[in-house]
Amino acid sequence: GALPGWDQVDVLVDDAYRFALRGTGGAVADYIPALAQADPDLFGVAVAQVDGGLHAVGDVDVAFSIQSISKAFVYALVCQNFGHEQVMARIGVNNTGLAFDSVIAIELNDGHPMNPMVNAGAIAATALMPGSTPGERWEAIQTGLSAFAGRALALDDEVYRSETATNQRNRAIARLLESYRRIDTDPLDAVDVYTRQCSLLVTAKDLAVMAATLADGGVNPVTGRRVVSATVCRDTLAVLATSGLYERSGEWLFDIGLPGKSGVAGGIMAVSPGKAGIGTYAPRLDPAGNSVRGQLATAHLSRALGLNIFASD
Ligand code: GLN
Repeated sequence: GALPGWDQVDVLVDDAYRFALRGTGGAVADYIPALAQADPDLFGVAVAQVDGGLHAVGDVDVAFSIQSISKAFVYALVCQNFGHEQVMARIGVNNTGLAFDSVIAIELNDGHPMNPMVNAGAIAATALMPGSTPGERWEAIQTGLSAFAGRALALDDEVYRSETATNQRNRAIARLLESYRRIDTDPLDAVDVYTRQCSLLVTAKDLAVMAATLADGGVNPVTGRRVVSATVCRDTLAVLATSGLYERSGEWLFDIGLPGKSGVAGGIMAVSPGKAGIGTYAPRLDPAGNSVRGQLATAHLSRALGLNIFASD
């Protein structure tokens, strides 16, 4: 069915916000030192409809780094250039069942990165972006993610420098991929561009609009601009369903029934194809790195708005 009427959605977004305030567990990420400074109590919920309307409650204009949610959009941009078969073969679409920064997952799979939503697959995807230099690939990513958001997204220099100083593990992952000949560009250049893409600043409202662009077959519902094709959106959403919440992707899909993606700064986006995008921000995370309140708010909205993609009514 369609979304309820405008006023009803407003009320339900408010309900979801208040429901999720009960989630006081979890901890702010601190393995990237700059992220540890976030105010743990910030919380915002936004819903962008594919008709361009936006519902928002709480801290929806606070900027935070997009982190792993960037992986979904970079993957979409890479799919747009390489096509379904190539991307499936090179990056893969299966869940690792392991943490997002797992090295063992690479070793267990003959060096294959497995899927684009874990760090190995995301770094491999970033290396596949069009451009003959790291600078050109970074520009293509910044421009592309800005088109998804419908406004120019800026880099958080402090987060970028903090992660660059502490991302030895991602550099090791990239070197490991190189050793298996799974990455064509310089691996450390790819990690640098990946670290920049993770440091782009977004708000919960931006995430809702970016998710709504995926829900709308690749057309940003606010700007009216096409960013990627409908086929690319479909492929991206399939991968989010298998792997968007890391090793908790099964529980998320079982509870919420929507393709989604989380990031360690506390953002989550969820996509209801043909209907809406949901963006949430709340920095306290569960052990897998997924926002506690973001999951609660999205679960409430999925039920209240009837968004579960597996429901037949
Ligand atoms: N930039 C972070 C990292 O590579 C992103 C991780 C995440 O959001 N899960 O560790």
